[in-house]
Amino acid sequence: MLRGVIVSGEIEASGAARKKYVVILGSLMSGLGKGIATASIGRQLQARGFNVVPIKFDGYLNMDCGTINPYKHGEVFVLDDGCECDMDLGTYERFLNINLNGNNNITGGKILKYVIDNERKGVYLGDDVQIVPHLTNEIKKWIKRVGNDFKADVVLVEVGGTVGDLENAYFIEAMRQLSLEEKGDVAIVQVTYVPVMDAVGEQKTKPTQHATRILQGMGVQPDIILCRSGAKLSADARRKIAMFCNVQPEAVIDDYDSKTIYGVPQLFENQNLSRLILDRLGIKGKDSDLKKWNELVGRIENPKKKVTVAITGKYTALKDAYVSIKEALVHAGASTDCEVDLKWVETTDIKDNKSAAEALKGCDGIIVPGGYGPRGTEGKVECARYARENDLPYLGLCFGMQYMVVEFARNVCGMKEANSTEADPKTKYPVVDLMPEQKFTEVMGATNRLGLREIAIKKDTLAHKLYGKSMAMERFRHRYEINPEYVPVLEKNGLVFSGASANGKIMEIAELEGKRFYFGTQFHPEFSSRLERPSPVFTGFVSACLSKKG
Ligand code: GLN
Repeated sequence: MLRGVIVSGEIEASGAARKKYVVILGSLMSGLGKGIATASIGRQLQARGFNVVPIKFDGYLNMDCGTINPYKHGEVFVLDDGCECDMDLGTYERFLNINLNGNNNITGGKILKYVIDNERKGVYLGDDVQIVPHLTNEIKKWIKRVGNDFKADVVLVEVGGTVGDLENAYFIEAMRQLSLEEKGDVAIVQVTYVPVMDAVGEQKTKPTQHATRILQGMGVQPDIILCRSGAKLSADARRKIAMFCNVQPEAVIDDYDSKTIYGVPQLFENQNLSRLILDRLGIKGKDSDLKKWNELVGRIENPKKKVTVAITGKYTALKDAYVSIKEALVHAGASTDCEVDLKWVETTDIKDNKSAAEALKGCDGIIVPGGYGPRGTEGKVECARYARENDLPYLGLCFGMQYMVVEFARNVCGMKEANSTEADPKTKYPVVDLMPEQKFTEVMGATNRLGLREIAIKKDTLAHKLYGKSMAMERFRHRYEINPEYVPVLEKNGLVFSGASANGKIMEIAELEGKRFYFGTQFHPEFSSRLERPSPVFTGFVSACLSKKG
């Protein structure tokens, strides 16, 4: 399907438009916001009428992110097909408002396994299988396949890590081959960092020059250089980067810190970045239309109201571990003209009702996020109790729902020793327990209950009011569930299970009537929230926080 306006010379004899590629590489260090830059370029191209699809390459040898501690790599994001992937995929979905799948995240482990499996099948029969050409060819084929699957005009390929890393060298080599073979159809964007070292505030360009030289040594010449920095580039810094890195001065783009990440597409557009990319790719596109997007950005930048929400977790030292929750609150805030101020609460520090009250002082609502293992769970129970007893809006996400139920069992149903068997395998009242199919699981990778599933929603409940329908689709990632044996006693004491799996067996939503918002989900609504399509659960929660504030 041809979306953008393609100049006639760009149409192949078959009538199909040639696919275009934008490769985004990072230099100097990780954590520069390459994912945001990639997503912003994608959003700019969408605003010019093109159908885009992003792919992220991560060099590590894991098949996916599922077994990596969030402390090491940030949040594990979950896609519709259940792929546990890098959090950049979440950034792409939030900006581009499209649903991705596991093929959009190539890891070192995945691509190597693919090649080795092929070798065993005899796909390369007779050959000695090598990094070049076998592995690099499969990478190029993979990228083209995803482009076709998504009917994309432009495929964005973000290379994780930094130029010079051993683990992404073969991938960069594949990108070099791609630009050689698809001549004129590939734009290379390098994201770099420009530090300020001395008191005079001089922006230092040498690190960028050296990093670019490494890239050039690999046969790759950037077309565009995005410069991350605290402020705009000085004319001198721009001139030096252009001169020494062999790019045009107008292709040196400012990527300074902006008020909200959602402002970056316009920041780039103001510097004609989409024009530069399209020129490089030899396509035109319509005039940029970011009007609706920018209206939402304006609402984030100039909120009329403000609430404070506590996020209780155990990875609070690394905020990236909860990035989808943070962003879902920004989306809900944009739709309610409200700024959501976050207060990070470390649950391991909460020992009793008093310390919970202390930690939650001044908060208009609380979110208890997902998690694994026993650490911090007693603190979660105290927070859930404080919220229930003080009618503080409470949103429990997965683990947060499970511990909302543990608290209810202990303090309302009188089962004092109630717990999840994840924290206490010998608990007298296992109100949360391993799902039956999980009891025989021996391998750890990709064996949680994962991905998009249907949820049947009960009429006349808060859940029904929020979703406005009787069937919703949300993404899951868990091994434990509300123990079905305890559902009757929990219900008898007033807990409402307003959502269940389509076959009715697994409790997916719990809520309490007569409260402002006391709501837990076994799924992760934060994974499906986008700026242009906020999650109804988060919008409902923020509205309840606003009503609490009065
Ligand atoms: N550890 C819990 C489970 O496996 C919750 C998981 C989560 O919060 N994603 O069920």
